[in-house]
Amino acid sequence: MTIVPFADLHAQYLSIKDEIDEAIAAVIARSAFVRGPFVEKFEEDYAKAMEAAHCVSCADGTAAIYIAMHALGIRPGDEVITTAHSWISTSETISQHGAVPVFVDIDPETYTIDPARIEEKITERTVGIIPVHIYGQSADMTPIMEIARRRNLWVIEDCAQAHLATYQGKKVGRFGDAATWSFYPGKNLGAMGDAGAITTDDADLARRMARFARHGGVIKGVHEIEGINSRLDGLQAAILGVKLPHLARWTQARRSAARRYDALLASNAVRTPPVAAGREHVYHLYVIEHEDRDGLASHLKADGIQTVINYPTALPFLPAYARFDHHPEQFPHSYAMQSRILSLPIFAEISEEQIERVATSIGRFCRG
Ligand SMILES: *Cc1c(COP(=O)(O)O)cnc(C)c1O
Repeated sequence: MTIVPFADLHAQYLSIKDEIDEAIAAVIARSAFVRGPFVEKFEEDYAKAMEAAHCVSCADGTAAIYIAMHALGIRPGDEVITTAHSWISTSETISQHGAVPVFVDIDPETYTIDPARIEEKITERTVGIIPVHIYGQSADMTPIMEIARRRNLWVIEDCAQAHLATYQGKKVGRFGDAATWSFYPGKNLGAMGDAGAITTDDADLARRMARFARHGGVIKGVHEIEGINSRLDGLQAAILGVKLPHLARWTQARRSAARRYDALLASNAVRTPPVAAGREHVYHLYVIEHEDRDGLASHLKADGIQTVINYPTALPFLPAYARFDHHPEQFPHSYAMQSRILSLPIFAEISEEQIERVATSIGRFCRG
């Protein structure tokens, strides 16, 4: 039995092998391994592609969030509001600054932070909000930005899963003070190792972020402050530079795959991913819901189909946050999703045949 993989990074490599191999060889030929011309070129290209004035590259998407918060002036004891339903990078970076992550439940229609529940969590210690465009669909940015402006809070958009997603015709990353990006290999724009970036329109913020990420100074030997070491390497920058022009096409391919799943799964007892009006989803993940999620996952596995649960435990209920003693009633939607959600195989190169195999297997399970 051939496996339907959850993702297929090698298929993407083979589709652009010559370009990638040439880019890697060019970096090696110039020994431009850390920072250097390939990194500078990618920062320029990425800023342009995301319609931002500045791009500060860094080692990974987690560091991007950490660096952005530092440059926005976070202090120990501050509180930062974020979603209960995300990958832990979003909240662990808050704690790493000595600040407190304050979780808000999701809107079950989009799995993103529910703006109607934000204000009740704001205290005199709140300094910012980190919405996450989870799975590839934008959070509800109009009310989030309205609250942030009125309450004088900064906003960092966690765009790790949402390259090229839009909200009311505008690209994600263009709403907040800063937007953070991951180029982890499996992301919609993926490197061949860890890589990340932050975009912003604020020149001074960009300068402070670059300085902090590069040992406190962008000029060698001049350390204005103490910083950290979080740099993009030349090989990853060159690889990302090759992939960036293909991103729009790959995003369309993910959307077509999602449309096929939507159509083929429509008559089954599964909930296909809803998309809110005015938002264009980029399907980093195609997440369905089913009453008997674990039964469905085992059935698919037996049929040779790989699935993943993103994420099996909502952030407030992780052992890492046991100190807050959160209860399910505080985050009912995030809690309910833990046992309902299942991510199906999706990637730009997925074939019609692979999609049909997944849908047929789900159909057999649903009909019992
Ligand atoms: C992947 C991801 C990150 C972190 O990115 P890394 O590059 O793996 O550090 C942050 N937030 C979300 C929502 C992610 O999916």
